Amino acid sequence: MDKLKTKIIEEGRVLGSSVLKVDSFLNHQLDVAFLNEIGKEFKEVFKDKEITKILTAEVSGIAIAAIAGLHFQVPVVFAKKTQSLNLDKDTYEGEVYSYTKEQHFKIRVSRRYLSKEDKVLILDDFLANGEALKGLRDIVEAAGATLQGAGVVIEKGFQQGGDQLRSEGMDIRALATISSMEEGNITFR
Ligand code: 5GP
Repeated sequence: MDKLKTKIIEEGRVLGSSVLKVDSFLNHQLDVAFLNEIGKEFKEVFKDKEITKILTAEVSGIAIAAIAGLHFQVPVVFAKKTQSLNLDKDTYEGEVYSYTKEQHFKIRVSRRYLSKEDKVLILDDFLANGEALKGLRDIVEAAGATLQGAGVVIEKGFQQGGDQLRSEGMDIRALATISSMEEGNITFR
């Protein structure tokens, strides 16, 4: 998606060797009109797949998934990262490893909102090591639902998640794939 690449080059900030900050439109301030274009693009990319539900993880996936839900005309469910009183006790769980916190944590979805009849599209903002997508896939599998594919706004192609999950059969589409990045120089695949 050319407009996304332009925005990444113009507004993205590279931290260290592997973190891209796109807080001006995706992760802090939200450019809703642009997110609408992203939602439309996901619909175009997955137009041949039957989708009954979109699944993402809180927090950063929610805005993208919600707007995409309008284009797919399906409900959007987000996995929760904390067990709280207002989450049903009966949940499907997935496990995610956080490289920044160096620990595993669980993500959960109430059994009310995912069933074996569902054909699920997973959406997220970034794909790096693939841990978030794996945790969300755990939840789809626990529900006995069908995983139709996964869409990410930005894939960091120099990290291993995309290659690994595709080799395991996950149909992943990225709207922009970065092949290398350093401050002032971001290249795309
Ligand atoms: P993964 O689980 O694939 O290793 O990483 C994906 C998750 O970590 C995404 O949900 C995203 O929130 C976060 N993430 C990974 N890399 C980046 C990055 O470079 N920038 C930002 N803003 N988030 C990232």
